[in-house]
Amino acid sequence: MKRLRCILLALLLLAIPVAGHATIRIVTTTQDLAALAEAVGGEFVEVQSLTPGTSDPHFAVAKPSMIRKVFRADLLLIIGADMEIGWLPPLLQSARNARVQPGNPGHLDLSGAVPILGKLSGPVSRALGDVHAKGNPHYWLDPRNGVHMARAIAERLGELDPDHAAEYQRRSQSFAQTLNQKFLGWREELAYLDGQPVIAYHTSLVYLADAFGFRIVDEVEPKPGIAPSAASLNALLTRIKADDIGVLIMEPYYERRSARYLNEQTGIHIAVLPQSVGARKGIDSYFELFDAIVTAFKDVEDK
Ligand SMILES: [Zn+2]
Repeated sequence: MKRLRCILLALLLLAIPVAGHATIRIVTTTQDLAALAEAVGGEFVEVQSLTPGTSDPHFAVAKPSMIRKVFRADLLLIIGADMEIGWLPPLLQSARNARVQPGNPGHLDLSGAVPILGKLSGPVSRALGDVHAKGNPHYWLDPRNGVHMARAIAERLGELDPDHAAEYQRRSQSFAQTLNQKFLGWREELAYLDGQPVIAYHTSLVYLADAFGFRIVDEVEPKPGIAPSAASLNALLTRIKADDIGVLIMEPYYERRSARYLNEQTGIHIAVLPQSVGARKGIDSYFELFDAIVTAFKDVEDK
């Protein structure tokens, strides 16, 4: 009898790992997407980002470690709208993973889930600078888009893993609820920016302006991706003085010399805004990203 109990116990222990679930391996092009995938996927997914939040997402160098990640992935999440055009296509080719090729269920381009700003009509010429013909790809910087992105991720995960579809839905809904609530708080904290003219370094912050009600009236870059010249900086300087523009916002990865010059000449405040999850230590979630952005604005206000 005792022996039978031992055998039964052994069988029971053996059965436990079988009851576990297969984890969906998600690879994302940015840490923002990784944070959203973790929020929606929870314990059913394993998430890795191809680039760190400290780097400019327009650029990346394909490394063997990145190829390995794409090779093993069940689901690839990308920003799209040409954000990764300079580095993802060769990586996808080298990884030889049919699951995550465009058009297959393991490939999800989140730009299809949000309203894209700045779509260009008419012919696009390189003379306009490093423009994105498919519109501005920096859409994760509007918290309202986070809701759409989470929902799209939940839907796709549910298709790939129908057993947990309801759980993904539930998680995405609770994420959206928290995000909507936090958004009201962030807006309240930045209410003083409403309608204010602001200078941005690059055209990346239009979604943030849209979400928080300020106006980006000019950029430090004379054209997207083109470094400012002495002449373009002096023209901007005149404008800042004439229009009494109080704040210049920029991502941490751009050169600071131009901003410092404008600050010295006009007194304009510089707000260096973390643009992504992982841009700084302590920004590990999508919520923490906007907490940090609000704090960066407040730091300027207090000076
Ligand atoms: Zn850009």
